[in-house]
Amino acid sequence: MQVKNTKQRKHIISILKDASRPMSINEIYDAIISELPRIAKSTIYRNIDQLFEQDLIEKHHFNDNEIFYLYKENNDEHTHFIICDECKRTYSLPSCPIHEIEDYIKAEGFTIKNHQIQITGICKSCAYNHLKK
Ligand SMILES: [Zn+2]
Ligand SMILES: [Zn+2]
Repeated sequence: MQVKNTKQRKHIISILKDASRPMSINEIYDAIISELPRIAKSTIYRNIDQLFEQDLIEKHHFNDNEIFYLYKENNDEHTHFIICDECKRTYSLPSCPIHEIEDYIKAEGFTIKNHQIQITGICKSCAYNHLKK
């Protein structure tokens, strides 16, 4: 563990915790730059990689291949997110719709390690902006 990275690391963790939604590297960068104006994006990538290796954050892949990072809360519950293709705003699903399907899959003797839900589209306000054009 590199001690000199502790300050950046703490900032990144608190930004992700406060957001309680997946954030892209660019969003993390924009949020941190006011407090640590000299931080490099490569530093953020390095810290994010460490946090991921330590299982403190999870990766979310959305349809344009940009990776978003979510801080893992200390419980077994998980949330699925959908993201607007255009404004990149994220929305969380109220519950996981996969559990029922998982029970069936487990009954088939299949061991599930992970699951993802990918929904693509545009949000209400982006759809409204299209109508105005
Ligand atoms: Zn939108
Ligand atoms: Zn789920």
